[in-house]
Amino acid sequence: ELHAGEMERRRLHNTIQELKGNIRVFCRVRPLVDGGLSKHIQLPASDVKTITLAKTEESHTGKTAETQKNYIFSFDRVFGPMASQQEVFEEISLLVQSALDGYNVCCFAYGQTGSGKTYTMEGAEYDQARGVIPRAVQQIFRAAEKLATQGWEFTFTASFVEIYNESLRDLLYTGKASKRPEHEIRKSTNNEVTITNLTYEKVSNEDQVLGLIALANQNRSTAQTAQNDRSSRSHSVFQLDIEGVNVGRDVKCKSTLCLVDLAGSERMLKSQSQGERFKEMTAINGSLSNLGIVISALANKESYVPYRNSKLTYLLQSCLGGNSKTLMFVNIAPESDSFGETLNSLRFASKVNDCVIGTASANRK
Ligand code: ADP
Ligand code: MG
Repeated sequence: ELHAGEMERRRLHNTIQELKGNIRVFCRVRPLVDGGLSKHIQLPASDVKTITLAKTEESHTGKTAETQKNYIFSFDRVFGPMASQQEVFEEISLLVQSALDGYNVCCFAYGQTGSGKTYTMEGAEYDQARGVIPRAVQQIFRAAEKLATQGWEFTFTASFVEIYNESLRDLLYTGKASKRPEHEIRKSTNNEVTITNLTYEKVSNEDQVLGLIALANQNRSTAQTAQNDRSSRSHSVFQLDIEGVNVGRDVKCKSTLCLVDLAGSERMLKSQSQGERFKEMTAINGSLSNLGIVISALANKESYVPYRNSKLTYLLQSCLGGNSKTLMFVNIAPESDSFGETLNSLRFASKVNDCVIGTASANRK
């Protein structure tokens, strides 16, 4: 049986999550490249939930005067530039764990290009720098091994897809480039979302999944070389479908863990973008703002939720509403010239943060 302390920790996590609703938002500030201190970002030492963005404006009315305007945001957690990958993961490990308890779990990284989304989700090669995806995968397989001693048997299926200009690309595809199939999102009568012609790999250990992640990165960098800076203009969605059965106790559970590195949220001036770029900008703005619209429609319990207005929300439909827990990272860059984008990102994220959606419930039978 599970250790009593561990059971209590998990019970508490689920209780808190149910009280709060099933959306949480964490803010993470990237370190400055030269390691200095950001001039306009203030993180109170005694508080891990608020962040202040300060804007100093000079006014020239007669003599020069400086006025400071503060924008204060609060989130479920704010990680400063010194926060390690491990510290960040510790805060979400219970969320990841609940995917094995039958909850759908969805974790996004939102922010402008260069703000640390990929670092947060994937991290870097060396051990301490590993991000959310490899750590989550490790945790899931270790926990599944423990649960196996209590009669649980799990089946895991991984997929990895990129959404670029509202079209889907299989990141686990290994065939000829010229034979790449087209994909469509399908929803079955029991509300399960699948993608046609997509690679769904059965996996049974951590190394297999890490191999698939490496394959996905290779696939992405090939596309990247062919098309400059593509990865920052596409969403990448890693999904691990989990099915558990405990014959002895006659219980089953089914859930999906979904980890998403979103396209850069930076706004582009219409005048600066033409042709392909304009199309990309429209696709990105459309899908990110639809993500916000879907979340607030769910929060307001509106009868119509426009999932189908973008590929991203359509794909994530089962992970966003009803039986699910959602975590959004808002990643921000500390440089002064990112002030405007940072403010936009924090505003978007605080809208999401204000959304309290129903309650999550485990999908156990
Ligand atoms: P994005 O995916 O949002 O475009 P990246 O994750 O690629 O941004 O981050 C941009 C750069 O900053 C990368 O070189 C990355 O390694 C580095 N970086 C981002 N966040 C951190 C962090 N918390 N600590 C150290 N380096 C970071
Ligand atoms: Mg990135």
